[in-house]
Amino acid sequence: MNIQSVNIFCLSWRVNYFWFRRDLRLNDNVGLHAALQAGEVQPVFIFDTNILDGLRTDDPRVSFIHSRLQELNMQLSKYDSALHTYYGDPLEIWRGLLSDNDIQAVYYNRDYEPYARSREKVLKSFFSAHGVDFKGYKDQVIFEAHDVLKSDGQPYTIFTPYMKKWLERYNDVEIKDSALRFGQFIRGARRIIPLNQLGFEESRIEIKPYRFHGLEDYHNVRDYPELDQTSHLSVHLRFGTVSVRECVQNAMNINETFLSELIWREFFMQILYHFPHVVTHNFKAKYDAIEWRNEKGDFEAWCQGKTGYPFVDAGMRELNETGYMHNRVRMVTASFLVKHLLLDWRRGEKYFAEKLLDYDLSANNGNWQWAAGTGCDAAPYFRIFNPTAQMKKFDSHMHYTRKWVKDLDEKSYPQPIVDHRFARERCLNVYKAALG
Ligand code: FAD
Repeated sequence: MNIQSVNIFCLSWRVNYFWFRRDLRLNDNVGLHAALQAGEVQPVFIFDTNILDGLRTDDPRVSFIHSRLQELNMQLSKYDSALHTYYGDPLEIWRGLLSDNDIQAVYYNRDYEPYARSREKVLKSFFSAHGVDFKGYKDQVIFEAHDVLKSDGQPYTIFTPYMKKWLERYNDVEIKDSALRFGQFIRGARRIIPLNQLGFEESRIEIKPYRFHGLEDYHNVRDYPELDQTSHLSVHLRFGTVSVRECVQNAMNINETFLSELIWREFFMQILYHFPHVVTHNFKAKYDAIEWRNEKGDFEAWCQGKTGYPFVDAGMRELNETGYMHNRVRMVTASFLVKHLLLDWRRGEKYFAEKLLDYDLSANNGNWQWAAGTGCDAAPYFRIFNPTAQMKKFDSHMHYTRKWVKDLDEKSYPQPIVDHRFARERCLNVYKAALG
């Protein structure tokens, strides 16, 4: 064996890793596909304590992620491979892996939330200092924040022109079929760290599967919570158990309004990216002078679904019991908190963030700011949903409302905590005063 072949032999033992995060699938996974093309791959997942430490022990999202990891592991076992899972701070985990292995490259799909971006930045400099390639790919979106810009290079802040440009730029995107290369996974067997060793419990909340069938009439039926005729994609898009390219290709053939909702998702993602101040501040500073009420009792009543407005209460009880709420009802409950109760939208946003299985910072923040009128392309502040009229229009037989508010006819069901007309006037006055 000459020196050159010894080197090649050594190099061939350098390991490539694929790091799963918000992309928990093998199929059409761009970063994974690239890693498999480059050679043998060890897939890993890190239970990131910087995220987990802030969650309740019965958080159903952790349970969901855990069950998906087990599924991934089952799929990998067909190729005599296994997912390696770790628990801790990602930098420390990678430091440990690097000291035990000769790592050539770490592949991952980009994540655009502020914490994920700062984590990537730290790891980029860490890997670069150790001569390891840290390779990020676009997987979570069709278009990243810099892909769809106005002709002057500035980001869009109004949805309709953004969508127009988005559609112009969209060409049939390719779905990556990596299956042929699944033999490239490094062999081995391993168990996923059990949930209880992570300090979490199995949740009793079930995650509904997503669907593409039956969405042809989406634009006519999506607003009626009783019908439940939406895709239930949100939680799957959140954790990447479905590919966004597959969603968009289906939507293109099924229904324009459905497609536009997927574009709203990317619109809010690019808003968060270009205007990170939205995480803590109004998108439009002119609303900063609003004098929010600081009412604990009203907030509690809203959280518990005890406002005396049945449609609002139904939504909040659905959220508390299932981790999901229909979009129309999200709009009404958010508007009620902000405009009827005059409570700071950030309090409602935080509560949704704790409860929603599909919680996504950009979508949640964008929609809360939309409801409060403080956002980029928001509902005008003087549009105030009447929760009773909304119920009559979108749940006329009250099937949805009664499903969640079982005590509606009982004496114990609360009287409305605020009168609609009074609340409307108060809201208009406070917003007007703030805007000068
Ligand atoms: P479908 O109606 O089938 O829509 C398909 C997909 O399009 C959704 O899965 C989602 O990815 C996207 N989408 C739909 N509506 C919106 C929207 N208004 N903004 C951005 N993307 C959208 N969605 C989240 O994914 N995470 C959140 O944290 C979130 N918070 C919200 C908070 C408020 C106050 C409101 C009014 C809406 C929020 N939404 C959020 C948007 C929307 O309510 C959910 O995406 C939708 O109800 C999920 O059900 P679905 O998957 O069946 O949606």
